[in-house]
Amino acid sequence: MTNSKYGDYRFLESVEFMFDRAVREMNLPQGLSNQIKACKSVFRIQFPVQIDGRIEVFTGWRATHSEHRLPAKGGIRYALNVNEQEVEALAALMTYKCAIVDVPFGGAKGGLIIDPQKYSSEQIEKITRRFALELAKRGFISPSRNVPAPDLGTGEREMAWIADVYRQLFSTDINHIATVTGKPVSQGGINGRIEAVGRGIQYILREFFRHPEEVKKSGLSGNIESKKIIVQGFGNVGYHTTKFLAKEDGGKIIAIIEKDGAVYNEQGLSIENVVEYFQTNQKLEGFPDATFIKDGRNALELECDILIPAATESQITSNNADRIKAPIVVEAANGPITYNADEILKEKGTVILPDVYVNAGGVTVSYFEWIKNLSHIRFGRLERRFDELKGEKIINLLESVLNVTIDDDMKKAFTDSSGAAELDLVRSGLDDTMRQAFQEIMEIMHRGEKLLDYRTAAYVLAIEKIACNYLEMGI
Ligand code: NAD
Repeated sequence: MTNSKYGDYRFLESVEFMFDRAVREMNLPQGLSNQIKACKSVFRIQFPVQIDGRIEVFTGWRATHSEHRLPAKGGIRYALNVNEQEVEALAALMTYKCAIVDVPFGGAKGGLIIDPQKYSSEQIEKITRRFALELAKRGFISPSRNVPAPDLGTGEREMAWIADVYRQLFSTDINHIATVTGKPVSQGGINGRIEAVGRGIQYILREFFRHPEEVKKSGLSGNIESKKIIVQGFGNVGYHTTKFLAKEDGGKIIAIIEKDGAVYNEQGLSIENVVEYFQTNQKLEGFPDATFIKDGRNALELECDILIPAATESQITSNNADRIKAPIVVEAANGPITYNADEILKEKGTVILPDVYVNAGGVTVSYFEWIKNLSHIRFGRLERRFDELKGEKIINLLESVLNVTIDDDMKKAFTDSSGAAELDLVRSGLDDTMRQAFQEIMEIMHRGEKLLDYRTAAYVLAIEKIACNYLEMGI
């Protein structure tokens, strides 16, 4: 079946074709690749909620793509266009994503058909709690089997409600807090989870630009500084990605695309000004110091160095792929490029850093949160002051052996940085994870006679690891 508007393959088919393309580069028994590719189960639920005296019936799904490792992990999406094939496609991506970044989870995803903006916070709470109850009582939410997280349309708030529903249902489960990740820090969440996807993308781009021979393929040079960047979607992922790239790496954000249109300024937009305007007005139209483009999708085709789709799937299709001018596309969203468009862009020489790797920062830090919850202690709590003290002792030793006086600023910089806080540890673990995965993907890209693209190499990496797991474990 194809996407009727552009004749492209739909999201799930696109993911499956990308999987098949990777399998063709491998020597894998057919039955094993079928087993890895298949979605193991999909649960659909309809449930009623009383809203303003009326009964509304909601439809939601939880797909478990793989359980070769447990728990299965994946976000819950709230959007009007959620459907079964989308949830299955997202669950499959979770399986491959976890394998690529060595997070020992299976893949899952949930979705609910709802426009969250149409309901008050109290109503969303009521709907979320009922959805969570329906899933939890059937084992589709559990710290050991199936752990949700935020996705499009959901955030910390929903995760806190879901955790509370599970706790009430299973109050004797000492690990109840680990049943969902992306919680507020005060509810057992972890510092750095909200920023995780954006931070991960920053680390990936830094690593990419550390390899001049890779950068050369795109026709660019140098590093992130002054690169013209366009982002589509200014939610959690889009905001944090652009904030870090602009503030910390000198990238120039020239266009931001949202549902109502795009703002464009060749000289660069101030992320903090745009976010303030967007949060106040719930739209980009009217933002000063920028040109407004009513049909935001057209802004995907503007001249830039790096295009970051961070909204939703099937945004670059065979309809607009040949007009995309960005030499590098970074898939922050899941599935923003259809299989058909992927082939067109590859033909043009566009470098695509693929979703299965690019947005894995979210699940990586979710993994850290899950470990923190199971160990019932914040990272760094035991050793931070000990490390600081060790730093002080080293300074004292240096002063006495070298007979010098180290100035207070240097002393402070050294002792402060020697005791890592939770956020430092999370960022360090995320950076290491992203770099390690980049190296592994590159190794696969270059190991055969044929040079593979990043997406195919990332899929090969994931499939190899999962296949190895099945073979060792026994199917
Ligand atoms: P979000 O709800 O915080 O933000 C999404 C933003 O995109 C919203 O501002 C929305 O208005 C905008 N948007 C939606 N459709 C659009 C369109 N057609 N054109 C322009 N803008 C549009 O969601 P998020 O958490 O930032 O997720 C964005 C993407 O990143 C999704 O594909 C999601 O699956 C993926 N992702 C998110 C996480 C996470 O931890 N939040 C992790 C991995 C992947």
